[in-house]
Amino acid sequence: MSTSAQQSREWVDGFLFVGNQLALDFLNTRLVNEAGPVELLPDTASLVRWFIAGGLVKARGRDLAAPAWRNSQGTRRLLDDLLVFRERLRSTVLRMETGKKPEPAFLEELNQKLLAYPHRYVVVSGRSSARRETYLDAAANPSELWRELADSAAHLLTDVPVARLRKCEGCVVNFYDISKKGSRCWCSMHLCGNRAKVSTYRRKQRAQEA
Ligand SMILES: [Zn+2]
Repeated sequence: MSTSAQQSREWVDGFLFVGNQLALDFLNTRLVNEAGPVELLPDTASLVRWFIAGGLVKARGRDLAAPAWRNSQGTRRLLDDLLVFRERLRSTVLRMETGKKPEPAFLEELNQKLLAYPHRYVVVSGRSSARRETYLDAAANPSELWRELADSAAHLLTDVPVARLRKCEGCVVNFYDISKKGSRCWCSMHLCGNRAKVSTYRRKQRAQEA
């Protein structure tokens, strides 16, 4: 695969999808660069773009992009709630990475969402065989977007082996290491991986010059 093809798979519409897991990709909508934290979900329009970029509201994407939906009070409230949840999920993931269990208060919050918005799906015919597709009617009720996110957070807490839950060695990006050897260190070779290689190279050069 060419470098530009790989890069375009990692970035979709300005969002990073390198987590191999939706809830982790959601955490990665808040990044930190040299200038400080960068919020990739500053408004409801970007929230809609993220769900569409993640392939979660394909059929109803056009409805959600409508200004009336974006500007509704329900959508604004949903964004506020999601961002608070995102940071609690981040703390939980960081705890788990250090071998601790999730806080009971977080599990309670997650369980409330799971019971209020159980995951629903329909079967649709795919290219070669039928496949399941999440069913949500977010155009009618913005809160429906919880169905996918709560399910994914539950999957993250229960199905992803903690040893494979990683934070990039060079930045704040979280990912699920699905590499065969379990030796992935970087969010992306195009971001931190390359930066690390360049600084090692420079260090070696400086050592040779000294
Ligand atoms: Zn990184």
